[in-house]
Amino acid sequence: MSRNLTLLLLLLCVLLVIACEAPHTHTFNSEWSSDETYHWHESTCGHDVISGKIRHSWSNSDPVPPTHYEDGYASHICLVCKYEKTDITPALVDAHTFSSGWSYDETYHWHSATCRHDVVTEKSEHTLTAYGSCQVCDYREGEIIEGNYKITTEGTLTVIDKELVIGDVTIPSEIRGVKVVSIGNSAFSGCYSLESVIIPNSVTVIGDNAFDFCKSLNSVNFPNSLKTIGGRSFACTNLSNLDFPLSLTSIGNGAFAGCDSITEVTIPNWVTSLIDAPFIGCKSLERVSLPNTLTTMPGFRDCSSLTTVNIPTSATAINSSTFMGCVMLTDVTIPNSITSIGDWAFERTNIRELIIPASVTSMGKEAIAACSNLKDVLFEGTKSQWANLNSRGIIIPKSCIVHCIDGDII
Ligand SMILES: [Zn+2]
Ligand SMILES: [Zn+2]
Ligand SMILES: [Zn+2]
Ligand SMILES: [Zn+2]
Repeated sequence: MSRNLTLLLLLLCVLLVIACEAPHTHTFNSEWSSDETYHWHESTCGHDVISGKIRHSWSNSDPVPPTHYEDGYASHICLVCKYEKTDITPALVDAHTFSSGWSYDETYHWHSATCRHDVVTEKSEHTLTAYGSCQVCDYREGEIIEGNYKITTEGTLTVIDKELVIGDVTIPSEIRGVKVVSIGNSAFSGCYSLESVIIPNSVTVIGDNAFDFCKSLNSVNFPNSLKTIGGRSFACTNLSNLDFPLSLTSIGNGAFAGCDSITEVTIPNWVTSLIDAPFIGCKSLERVSLPNTLTTMPGFRDCSSLTTVNIPTSATAINSSTFMGCVMLTDVTIPNSITSIGDWAFERTNIRELIIPASVTSMGKEAIAACSNLKDVLFEGTKSQWANLNSRGIIIPKSCIVHCIDGDII
């Protein structure tokens, strides 16, 4: 009996010891663990348990939409555990844009992509007439073509599809073995998306209108081979810096007309021919330096910011409309090489005093008309010389006095 009691007591004691031991509380890492979907706390007690498992709560972020060239994306971060994810939206590559003009080679014509992807549309063989020109595109049999360029056997380069001329362009010095010596007339005319161009050292002539209306064109090099810049070749472009090479001799009429970013021009003395008015209508042009070797004074009509300009001491005439509309011009020196001054030469300038050397023997009737601020004309000849000069009746602005060396004209 007492033996049984002893066993029972022993069993009770064991049970009591088990029951008295403190219950185990799992412990967890304070840091979050995460996968793509959930975050939770891992245990640190070695038991295979986790705590607080729940879906991420994503932050809102502005998605970057996909473009034709790049994937779109949206970045998110879990506000609780800081887990990051990026959702990608694929680029819209099914929306290529194509030129309305034709590209071609010796066999086919097609529309090239203007989106810069290497894809084409409507590609088919030329349909040649009996005279060997394609009825669809501009191809003529026997032309030398490479990429978007075409070249004559004499080396004059033109562009095939101007819509494809985008951004920065480097013109090759040779095409299919033919040296590029000339940029053709109107070759790049109206390439609105052309921003800069590098002309190779083989080029001697930039043709008339070659780059006119390339409104975005802000940079061009004039290579050391260049002799002639053609008429209106860079008219209405965004060029600002002009650096003329030693090889250059001639700049054509209106070559830089309407280039409203040009503020300053220096014509080096190796340029012997400035035809008519290369810088006509350059509204920001303030300062011009001309070499004293030019025999003709170029025109600066409607250069409405022009304040500083010299008339070369080698020039013999100030032609009609030379400074017409140069409303900021207050001061100009007429050298005694000048023998004639054309009509409207100073019209609407802001000149207050004009010294006319005795060398001037011919003057347009309206040479100084509409110079409303002109107060004094100092004629360096006699009254009788002035009478000869004035035989056709020069219109003198109101309240302006003509002074001759032997007295004033009243
Ligand atoms: Zn545990
Ligand atoms: Zn989370
Ligand atoms: Zn595309
Ligand atoms: Zn064709």
